[in-house]
Amino acid sequence: MENLISEILNGKQITKGEALELFDIDLEDLFLASSKIRKKHKGARVKICSIVNAKSGQCSEDCKFCAQSSFNKADVKVYPLIDPEKIKEVSIQALENVGCFGIVSSGNSLNDEEISELCKMFKKHEKVSRLGVSIGRISDASFIKLREVGIKKIHHNLETSENFYPNICSTHNYHGRVDTLKRAKKFGFKLCSGGLFGIGESLRDRIDLAFTLKEIGSDSVPMNFFMPIKGTVLEHLPAMKPTEILKTLTVFRIILQTPDIMVCGGREMHLRDLQSWIFQAGANGMMTGGYLTTDGRDITIDRQMIEDLGLQLETE
Ligand code: SF4
Repeated sequence: MENLISEILNGKQITKGEALELFDIDLEDLFLASSKIRKKHKGARVKICSIVNAKSGQCSEDCKFCAQSSFNKADVKVYPLIDPEKIKEVSIQALENVGCFGIVSSGNSLNDEEISELCKMFKKHEKVSRLGVSIGRISDASFIKLREVGIKKIHHNLETSENFYPNICSTHNYHGRVDTLKRAKKFGFKLCSGGLFGIGESLRDRIDLAFTLKEIGSDSVPMNFFMPIKGTVLEHLPAMKPTEILKTLTVFRIILQTPDIMVCGGREMHLRDLQSWIFQAGANGMMTGGYLTTDGRDITIDRQMIEDLGLQLETE
């Protein structure tokens, strides 16, 4: 096992079988490799992002983990697409403190009219290059419109491995998600795609996801850790242990090497006092200020943590 860490420290690109072995290695030994790789590619720079839930609830899809699915019985806010001018106002305020701002909507996709409404706002948004959109499946025609108004980043999580995906969703398939990402890449967008962990998947599923993201070329990988929400099919699942989360982060950094790795949902709930360890584990960023249907930690506390660690916050 120590040999594998030494080989990784010497630049070895690991196989799926070796990646699985990493889960048996002591966390502190893994930190040696994950923090070295992070520093090599990112230095001391850290990114933070935040999001707005621009259209919430009543989703026609049956994702078992999601409070916004109409198949689940979770108590969530339901509202149509927020007035784009309001989204603009919220985003400009947020971008004073974070590097990137995501506009996220529930549903398999937004309709043409909703995308046009957003595009009108993007066209006159002075910080449009720092916005990302997460609006589900996107047609080629809409990709073209989004490019024309200056959007540079598309967010679309794969969530888990292709094998495990049918266990968490039956109303759409994995192929469609991969297709959206590949077409986004073809149109020149940066990709922000990652996953959700602790939803009953195996370690092998996590590794398959990491290799798929590497193959697709995700530029930024958000990692979410399932928060059991009352009323969802998966509400009974046990919470992930902090050490398991940190180990999963190290394995992703070792496999993926260069992309941004952003710790998102579940950070505060599951990591508690160990939140600052995410950087040792290879992450170089995090989401701050709350998630789609759950609250997060105040941004000032996150900024203080970054300063206390001697890391540099990227705000552009
Ligand atoms: S994850 Fe997205 S597509 Fe799935 S139910 Fe939730 S909002 Fe709908």
